[in-house]
Amino acid sequence: MTSMQPANVHQLRIGDFVLTTLLDAQMEASFELFQNLDETEAKRLHLESRRPTPPRITLNVYLLDTGERKILIDTGLGGLAGDAGPYLMANLEAIGIAAEDIDTVLITHMHPDHAGGLIDANDNPAFPKATVLVPAGELDYWGGEIPNDVSDAQKGQFQAAHRVIAAVGSQMQHLEGTDVLPGITRVPLPGHTPDHSGYRIASGHDRILIWTDIVHMPQIQFPRPDASVAFDTDLDQAAATRREIMAQVAESQELIAGHHLDFPGIGYVVEDGDGFRFLPHVWQPTV
Ligand SMILES: [Zn+2]
Ligand SMILES: [Zn+2]
Repeated sequence: MTSMQPANVHQLRIGDFVLTTLLDAQMEASFELFQNLDETEAKRLHLESRRPTPPRITLNVYLLDTGERKILIDTGLGGLAGDAGPYLMANLEAIGIAAEDIDTVLITHMHPDHAGGLIDANDNPAFPKATVLVPAGELDYWGGEIPNDVSDAQKGQFQAAHRVIAAVGSQMQHLEGTDVLPGITRVPLPGHTPDHSGYRIASGHDRILIWTDIVHMPQIQFPRPDASVAFDTDLDQAAATRREIMAQVAESQELIAGHHLDFPGIGYVVEDGDGFRFLPHVWQPTV
């Protein structure tokens, strides 16, 4: 028998804004995911972390309340979920937010675990009142024809994107440049997908970078940032981007958040030998 945790929601104040993490799912994964890291080494790092095997990948969704807008940053698996969730809608309900209250959805990239939640199981729009902002290069790539040379897994990702676009394309707008909304800028982090984008949120003296899919398995990719995963569309560029952004935020001591970092997926990055280490943000009883 399983039952949901009483709170799969975490809130953090960023200046005048409140950033909420909502846990959508934990997806089962395998060590074969890693492309440029020996499977034995991946397993060793995993076992050292004392996590259960097979490994699981956390999937968070972020909600930013600016006082003026309620902005979802990605939407989890939604109608594209298997049996791994999704819990986003139940968690929104738990904090008193209805689907109609969401006025903006910011998409980081078009993978099914991020854009799938734009539709329900019957392919109806899950957030009917929302304007959906999608990085232009993501919409063009995943909305286009399926290239002949892609893997079956990637073919499935294209098909999922086509399904989402067919249902909510009329709500979508191309996002160009880096200015998104007051207090929010887009940070291009290409490699995982062609126009994979993080979002930097700044209000008052606070800021945080939501880096989305820079890391899928923290226990492996912080110590070995060169390890890319099978669903990175460009393995080398993904690895270069990962190392670069980790070095940057380690230097700047900027707070970061990630859709696949362990719930609530917020913390700091520090250098550690040839790689890095993640310092999780400490849960606070008040917002
Ligand atoms: Zn992804
Ligand atoms: Zn993802």
